[in-house]
Amino acid sequence: MTAAEALDADVGRDFIRDIIAADVAAGRVAEVITRFPPEPNGYLHIGHAKSIALNFGVAQEFGGRCHLRFDDTNPTREEQEYIDAIKRDVRWLGFDWNDHLYHASDYFEQLYEWAEHLIRTGKAYVDDQSQAEMRASRGTLTEPGRNSPFRERGVEENLDLFRRMRAGEFPNGARVLRAKIDMGSGNINLRDPTLYRILHARHPRTGDKWCIYPSYDFAHGQSDAIEGISHSLCTLEFEDHRPLYDWLIENLPVPSRPRQYEFARLNLSYTVLSKRVLIELVRDGHVAGWDDPRMPTIAGLRRRGIPPAAIREFVRRVGVAKANSVVDIGMFEHAVREVLNRTALRRMAVLRPLKVVIENYPEGQSEELEAVNHPDNPAAGTRRIRFGRELYVERDDFMENPPKKFYRLSPGREVRLRYAYFIACREAVKNAAGEITELRCTYDPATRGGNAPDGRKVQATLHWVSAADAVSAEVRLYNQLFSKPDPNVGAFAADLNPNSLEVIGDAKIEPALAADDADAPVQFERQGYFYRDPDSKPGRPVFNRTVGLRDTWAKVQAGGR
Ligand code: ATP
Ligand code: MG
Repeated sequence: MTAAEALDADVGRDFIRDIIAADVAAGRVAEVITRFPPEPNGYLHIGHAKSIALNFGVAQEFGGRCHLRFDDTNPTREEQEYIDAIKRDVRWLGFDWNDHLYHASDYFEQLYEWAEHLIRTGKAYVDDQSQAEMRASRGTLTEPGRNSPFRERGVEENLDLFRRMRAGEFPNGARVLRAKIDMGSGNINLRDPTLYRILHARHPRTGDKWCIYPSYDFAHGQSDAIEGISHSLCTLEFEDHRPLYDWLIENLPVPSRPRQYEFARLNLSYTVLSKRVLIELVRDGHVAGWDDPRMPTIAGLRRRGIPPAAIREFVRRVGVAKANSVVDIGMFEHAVREVLNRTALRRMAVLRPLKVVIENYPEGQSEELEAVNHPDNPAAGTRRIRFGRELYVERDDFMENPPKKFYRLSPGREVRLRYAYFIACREAVKNAAGEITELRCTYDPATRGGNAPDGRKVQATLHWVSAADAVSAEVRLYNQLFSKPDPNVGAFAADLNPNSLEVIGDAKIEPALAADDADAPVQFERQGYFYRDPDSKPGRPVFNRTVGLRDTWAKVQAGGR
């Protein structure tokens, strides 16, 4: 695709794509090369999906490529488990880095040489101040910083100390290498930022080779330059780092000159997209793990049954902007429903079963009825479902003393059982405690298929399953993990929703559900979209509710017009 075609295509225009198109049109870049640079210190979340879709998306649209680069400069927080999970999640989202998998640690030797280059050109020095001293002399937003007493060290002494830092002669925190820029700068990032710190820690890739590690700022832009990245896209919190990014590129003999552009992070209501909080949720057992379906992680969303296409569509609709904002979780769920409505086969499942006995249906007899798999897609075909004397309906679909607008089952009321017959309720049977244990009903054999030949109407159509062949299942209903739209990230435990998970131990599901492809999403009619959980065992399926059917976002949109 040429740049012009990319602009014409319905990919959604945004300021990043405009910048890239202009660079391509003016011949400023030969090839569009982007990168997604996760730090492997946790699992990816839906915010990362926005960055992934942007970086891989623009590369695709402009006929370039996108690298996956692990920003693995802090060995104390990074783990192989996270590296594996990140690769799996990027692929699952539908993106491919092909041969372009890199690590900042691949460049440690080159970065080290460049650090020496800065020392030799008088643009970096070894500082012996303690962390507290450095913090105290850094100044504030309104006050300039103070020069370190070690700032005017000679080149030879700096080189000697830096080499001895590398050789492991000093303990953690004893010294750092700093860029020599300007302690009076209005931008704190330019007040002699740290380039290297001593950290005696084993690195997952380089092992014990290094005991000094580059800072994010020193590693990132130079890694971009080594890889020939044309557009280095990151989130807004790095805007103030851009002058440092550019300073390093200017002052080092790097092989290319990448440019950094910043866009707004994705924030979602009722959730938290801070890795620190997500790590704590897992570590402190507030959730069952990184892939708990209540988590906003890609692994959690996958386990919940969210299709990757819905995530891609959602982030496309959110778009790429320059101002931070919070997106309503309803907008995400709306995109999920849209995709699932098209793809999920319909099934019947009774979550809170109430037994129905059809008194005029002969005992020991049963029959097969036909049910459609998808109302808008005839190619999805039909299936046979069994009808017999004993059935289950939803407890909520019966009321003994219904209010005016309750049209479902109640004594004397007739309703339709989906794909089957009209039934009328005669009596509710109760136990000694006064709880309803079963309904005695009759059916009208003339209404087979769900219509009365005499044209009489009913107000409700209920889902049901036959008691004889229903399969017992566990169903996990999820609600928002947080009870507030804007959880307090500083003290999030108080904002956790105590009812975020409701487990139903004995739902009754139609047998087709137990036999279906485990990876296919399903709609339980009148309930929502569900997805099989890996905790399922033969004969004992477990289903996660992906999302309910009720779409408040669609209403919000319609009302707003
Ligand atoms: P940390 O705060 O621990 O650094 P992070 O969320 O920034 O975590 P990274 O692994 O550094 O995680 O992020 C990789 C890339 O994803 C970065 O380019 C970052 O800007 C982007 N990213 C992270 N969170 C979001 C978000 N909520 N929306 C959009 N992009 C994001
Ligand atoms: Mg980060």
